[in-house]
Amino acid sequence: MLKSLELFGFKSFADRTKFDFATGITCVVGPNGSGKSNVVDAIKWILGDQSPKSLRGKEMSDVIFNGSAGRKASGFAEATLTFDNSGGILPIDTQEVQVGRRLWQGGDAEYLINSTPSRLKDVRDLFMGTGTSTGAYSIIEQGRVDQILQANASARRMVFEEAAGISRFKSRKTDALRKLDRVAQNLLRLTDIVDEVESQLNSTRSQAVKAAKYREVSEELRAWWLGLAADDYRQLSARLEQSEKQVERDKQIADKLNEQLQGYEAQLASFEVEASEVDDQLRQVERTSATNREAIVDLQSTIRHQSDRRREIGTELVHNRLLFAQSDQLGS
Ligand code: ATP
Repeated sequence: MLKSLELFGFKSFADRTKFDFATGITCVVGPNGSGKSNVVDAIKWILGDQSPKSLRGKEMSDVIFNGSAGRKASGFAEATLTFDNSGGILPIDTQEVQVGRRLWQGGDAEYLINSTPSRLKDVRDLFMGTGTSTGAYSIIEQGRVDQILQANASARRMVFEEAAGISRFKSRKTDALRKLDRVAQNLLRLTDIVDEVESQLNSTRSQAVKAAKYREVSEELRAWWLGLAADDYRQLSARLEQSEKQVERDKQIADKLNEQLQGYEAQLASFEVEASEVDDQLRQVERTSATNREAIVDLQSTIRHQSDRRREIGTELVHNRLLFAQSDQLGS
């Protein structure tokens, strides 16, 4: 049941204005141009009317208060309907339901259900089958009675269906059929995709078999490589061990040879000292030898001279003996 309508910046209602529809109120009266139809427009607008023409304007922003001689235009329009939902007619779990709509000069807009931002569809779904939606029988504007009376059977049927609450289910049926259609189309696309995926699956399967074979051969090859590498490792380790032992032996030999070399070098040094001393002695001996040779030569010359002298003395002795003998003979 409608409880109130609050308008702010909507058409001629520049100030915040609240209409309380207490029990018993059946009509709003006022002089021509006082804004009675604007009230109906506000209700239609809140319920989601999308036609500026149906709201008696050229464009939707015409619902915003456009100023007057003594007042500047409003920046936005706001309208809110409040329903008593204690009977649970509206499918929402609150005692009171507030539905609002706002529109700003820049074009931004929003719907609110119980102060929660909502979609137009949520607002339409809320009132579906209650007779309260736009174009339903609960809103019959000036000139609409004639239209309904003169309408064809199907248009009249829509009014009665809404009154009977069938339209909600018809709308759900239409939605369901649309969804079914979309599902059928999706199914068709999925069938194509499944075909495509199946052919890809076949090629993937054959690739998987090849990959498995490749992995098997790779593992075998790896095992072979590991075996060979282990053999190489063992042989090389043994050779390395031998080489290390040989190096150790060679090192010991080198150490011994070094020791010997040091001994020889020490001996050589002492030999060199000795050789130098012998050299000195040799030079001394050579000097002595030269002196002796000179002395020998002198002595030989003396010997020769003395020998000559001895021969001369011998000859002289012989001569003197002869002389003595002769003188003796002469004396006798
Ligand atoms: P009638 O009985 O003749 O149909 P009414 O009482 O229904 O009249 P409405 O048609 O609701 O009156 O109101 C018309 C008034 O609303 C006009 O004075 C018009 O100038 C004013 N109006 C409409 N749109 C706006 C707007 N955007 N800003 C300010 N005033 C507006």
